[in-house]
Amino acid sequence: MPKLKLITYGCQANDLDSERITGLLLREGYTFTDREEEADLILLNTCAIREKAEHKVYSRLGSFQALKRQRTGLKIGICGCVAQQEGQALLNRFPYLDFVVGPGQLTAIPPLLQAGVTRGLATARAAGYSYPVNAPVQRRSSIRAWVSIMEGCDRFCTFCVVPFTRGRERSRPSQDIIEEIRGLKRQGYREVTLLGQTVNSYGRKLTPPITFVELLRRIDQLVGDRMRIRFTSPHPSDVTHELATAIAELPSLCEQIHLPVQSGSDRILHRMKRGYDREEFLEKVALLRAKAPEIAITTDIIVGFPGETEEDFQTTLDLMQEVLFDGAFIFKYSPRSRTEAERMPDQLSEEVKGRWLEQALALLNRLSLERNRAYLGRTVEVLVNREDAKGDAIRHAGRTRQNKIVHFTGEGVEDGGVVAVAITEATPLYLQGELVCPQ
Ligand code: SF4
Repeated sequence: MPKLKLITYGCQANDLDSERITGLLLREGYTFTDREEEADLILLNTCAIREKAEHKVYSRLGSFQALKRQRTGLKIGICGCVAQQEGQALLNRFPYLDFVVGPGQLTAIPPLLQAGVTRGLATARAAGYSYPVNAPVQRRSSIRAWVSIMEGCDRFCTFCVVPFTRGRERSRPSQDIIEEIRGLKRQGYREVTLLGQTVNSYGRKLTPPITFVELLRRIDQLVGDRMRIRFTSPHPSDVTHELATAIAELPSLCEQIHLPVQSGSDRILHRMKRGYDREEFLEKVALLRAKAPEIAITTDIIVGFPGETEEDFQTTLDLMQEVLFDGAFIFKYSPRSRTEAERMPDQLSEEVKGRWLEQALALLNRLSLERNRAYLGRTVEVLVNREDAKGDAIRHAGRTRQNKIVHFTGEGVEDGGVVAVAITEATPLYLQGELVCPQ
């Protein structure tokens, strides 16, 4: 049986695409290997969101050249956002590459392999964007599952490559989503994360249109308190009163939101074309906390955007302190091809970006610790999942409804169970405690 080595970079959308690729290739008789030296097919599922991620892909791809010479019949393919963005240019640059497949064209992989194609190209520019719903998904976890509800984005923030790599916004019919979640419930899954690039704009282009909150209510009716539901990533402009109410009211919907702010400066938000200002973002945070006081709020922040001044950066630090985020992904701005920001004249030096990144991360560390310390002495509900232990052989691990990772000790604990844990220690990244009540 042929062996596949699959390497995944990037976000949850890419993780889900890798589960689809796995499902497709299992059907073709492939087995899986961790060792590229014994693989018959090496696939890189790539991310183009940041320059560093893209360079990682090129350097990994470069390391396969010798292997391709040594192993007759070895196929090498590249899929994901770099594949979509670069297309034919990748085939020109890496002569030993067999095929390039965009994220909307995953179902093209088996036919390309069956036909023994070399130098194959299946990207959206060649074939039109599609939604790979027919691809079977081979999930890695039996507890938590990702369900894609929409793809692409219409917002064109000036720094972002997503509208070019994943295409325009298109939502999946609600009935398909409900059926997929019904199947997951039947299989015993305990948690579903709904995925979309601007997940809370779901449904407005469907006929008839349906709102994201209506979809959440239908899912809640189906799963009740049997499953936890999360979603990522929402756009702040589409956080509504109805959404905040749903988070507070629906038993399945977790009190957690990842709300990317990107900057605290109105001038920079405007240059980023984010569609909201600082005041509006703070109003959304206040609305969410008023409705669901237990909610945990995390964010994305970019430092060193073109034209950003020391004053703009300080405004971002102020916003971080004002909101008291539970966590954040903070990145140095990196120019992405075809975006407006790439062409902005006032790009900042790596030295400035690096210094600001360190300052922002140091502040985040303090804020996350402060937020996590608020859990000391409390008893929280944890969905047990060994994956969260990150290889630690001693502790059990899982997550709270707020998505806080909890490491704990105790007897009679099973993966997928929900247990009560008394929190005794807090770090910026996780909580620690003792089992109070097994499932
Ligand atoms: S809303 Fe998000 S996905 Fe869409 S362009 Fe902006 S950053 Fe990219």
